[in-house]
Amino acid sequence: MTKILISPSKYIQGKGEMKRIKERIADLGDSFFIVISESGYKRFGQSIMESFSESDNVHFSKFNGECSKIEIDRLRAEFREKGSNVVIGIGGGKIHDTAKAIAYYENTPVVIVPTISSTDAPTSALSVLYTEDGEFDEYLILPKNPDIVLVDVDVVAKAPVRLLVAGMGDALATVFEARAAIKANAQTMAGGTATNAAIALTELCYNTLLEEGLKAKLAVENKVATKAVENIIEANTLLSGLGFESGGLSAAHAVHNGFTAIEETHNMYHGEKVAFGVLVQLVLENAPLEDIEEVLYFCNEVGLPTTLKELNIKEVSEEKLMEVAKLSCVEGDTIHNMPFEVTPEDVYAAIITANTLGEKFKIDNI
Ligand SMILES: [Zn+2]
Repeated sequence: MTKILISPSKYIQGKGEMKRIKERIADLGDSFFIVISESGYKRFGQSIMESFSESDNVHFSKFNGECSKIEIDRLRAEFREKGSNVVIGIGGGKIHDTAKAIAYYENTPVVIVPTISSTDAPTSALSVLYTEDGEFDEYLILPKNPDIVLVDVDVVAKAPVRLLVAGMGDALATVFEARAAIKANAQTMAGGTATNAAIALTELCYNTLLEEGLKAKLAVENKVATKAVENIIEANTLLSGLGFESGGLSAAHAVHNGFTAIEETHNMYHGEKVAFGVLVQLVLENAPLEDIEEVLYFCNEVGLPTTLKELNIKEVSEEKLMEVAKLSCVEGDTIHNMPFEVTPEDVYAAIITANTLGEKFKIDNI
């Protein structure tokens, strides 16, 4: 099958980049439409404006909180009314997805500026749409990745540490999911099979987490940006982003999707559920104990959940976990990119075992 790798046209990461945003994006157009939340504007409005001059055509548009079709249409109308020709999304995932969708429908360049590093979505050619009530609506698959992804390391380092750690959970899955998908010769989100380049990125991603994860966590707890923080931001955003999109997804994300059925996990971040999904995938694969213990060690070190209790599931019941297992295996989900058939019974057994391994590891090692 044909190999395909896709990526943003440019990835920029450095300290103080928010103040240089204008010079970074000036080639894309001359009338800028910035989608940002009220709180984001309060925090970054001034730094952003420092990079633009009085004569620049800049419009700030306040995001209403949900990446829905109604919100996208509202912002598109505003975009046209202002005569803008570049969309910039500054904030978290929902703002990025909204900005990507506006740019797609209006056929203009888009710049993504993450202010947190909690998932690997910023670089991708995908928007997740929700209803006004926050329920999943549909995936909007875009014909291209963002033109520029710009990350200010100082900004991300000052965000709550739990978000950075959740991003490590999302990044942790990348190598394992790609490895399995490649074995199955599965098609990636990029529309082909994985290139050697994508495989190398997923491996670098995992090694960076093991090497730099704890150091980065400790720095961000103290709201400072060290080299380890820079390396983890790159792993969470660029390596994981390119890795999942052009390397392939498989069981860990499908298990995450299954857990969304349980109300008690709703206050857990995406990457936290994905991290537990990695353990479930390793059990499904019957991975060597050594590999499982390496992941358990890492998760405990940085504070990612390795037990159902840590996923906030207080009462474990067969019924509840079977619901998760069934939802993980729905038709079309990425669990079917595993190199062998996976049934809900297999997932149920793997969840129970992963949880017990997680509990035992804590007793033996912590
Ligand atoms: Zn993810």
